[in-house]
Amino acid sequence: MDSQKVVSFRPLMEKVGRFNLKNKTVLIPQMNRIGGHILAATFRGFGVNARVMDTYKGLDFGKEYTSGKECYPCQVTTGDILYFMEKEQEICGDAFNPEDYIYFMPESSGPCRFGMYNKYQRIVLDSFPKLKKLKIGALTTNDGYSLAGLIEKERVRDLRKAAYFSVVVSDILDRLLWRVRPYEKQSGMTDDFIEKSMHVMEDMFERYGASKDFDKILDKLGDIVNEGKTIIDTNVPPKPLIGIVGEIYLRTHVHANQNVIRVLERYGAEVVNASIAEWVNYTTYDRLRDAKIRFRLNLKQLRLNSTRKYLKEIFSYRSELFYQEYRQKQVYSRVQALIDLAQDHKIAHLENILVRDNLYSFDAGTEACLSIAGMVEYARGGYNGVVNVYPFTCMPSTTTSAIAKPIMNRLRVPYLDTPYDSSSQPGREAAIRTFMYQAYQHFERHGRKRLGRVNKDVVAG
Ligand code: SF4
Repeated sequence: MDSQKVVSFRPLMEKVGRFNLKNKTVLIPQMNRIGGHILAATFRGFGVNARVMDTYKGLDFGKEYTSGKECYPCQVTTGDILYFMEKEQEICGDAFNPEDYIYFMPESSGPCRFGMYNKYQRIVLDSFPKLKKLKIGALTTNDGYSLAGLIEKERVRDLRKAAYFSVVVSDILDRLLWRVRPYEKQSGMTDDFIEKSMHVMEDMFERYGASKDFDKILDKLGDIVNEGKTIIDTNVPPKPLIGIVGEIYLRTHVHANQNVIRVLERYGAEVVNASIAEWVNYTTYDRLRDAKIRFRLNLKQLRLNSTRKYLKEIFSYRSELFYQEYRQKQVYSRVQALIDLAQDHKIAHLENILVRDNLYSFDAGTEACLSIAGMVEYARGGYNGVVNVYPFTCMPSTTTSAIAKPIMNRLRVPYLDTPYDSSSQPGREAAIRTFMYQAYQHFERHGRKRLGRVNKDVVAG
């Protein structure tokens, strides 16, 4: 592909936004493998041709078409879309038409740089004559990732519900993987099993997601969990429990984080990573919080029209958050009756931690809200160590590190920062090994208080 260095800003308005997906192929970047595939299947259930793009194969493109100052996820995803498009042009030949596709790249409002990825990628795509007409579908945290306009109006609500449900089920499959793999009877069994289970769930969501037949999906999830339990060797003693927080892309993208969970497991850990649903709940919670603040301000100034508008928003976001938390609780309760998987945090609880201990404010926003409070929750909940996984120079994660490190020191819980970019840090593995040595000492001294302990009553099934 040849690029032209001509930059025009009009396309940012015209070719980045929410577009109808009818008769288009929706390209979903692969941040978290399981989540991406099940979400794509959910879209397919609604008649949208959704595909998950290969990831990390186009990293050279990503590096070539960025300056090196961008966030690492921006480099990776830029490479992914350029690589996908190049391959697609090879396959389709003259029949290739960029207007057949919508590349899905959500955004969030400041203060960090996530809101700029799709704008930057628009400029990159526009530099390729053949990719100028490829549209970028951008959902935004400004409206809690509203899906309005993507499909027929009367089905948008169902799509949102099914998509959220797919996020929670994907989280469970990930948690099952991390719960079982450190104790597996034979090396590789869990990875094979989870890969197979992901395809089973894709099929379930494609068939039952659109009709919201969630009980059928839950029944199948229960079967998967029961089968997964049989992989656990109950003679393997419990291992130190390590919690991961950090930037959502890096902590879930196994290539970009150089398989940090697997490396931790190699040195004897059982790991729980923060979930994807936590971020979705946070965006809804944040919108609700913002609507409440604006409502109070307008009420004080007796601006009745605006007061009414924000009151409506409060009801809407409150019911959305209520629904999300209800669904999440339903899925976790069902699964936790079968196996001892880690619970997810409620966002209001995380905010309370920050307020009570005066650590950080939700007013400042970003993932630091979740990471700082999540770490404190891990440390107090009996985890033996905490790892902060993030892209090199990530602003919210650097803030998190500055605030969390002294707290972890005070709580005497081992803590490790793991910033990543496309280079390999020579001391990284040694740092993880040292961290795990400390985690073992913590484990021997304090045990594991609450989560993830191999409970033979539950595990033996
Ligand atoms: S969270 Fe960090 S890596 Fe992600 S966009 Fe913001 S600054 Fe960049």
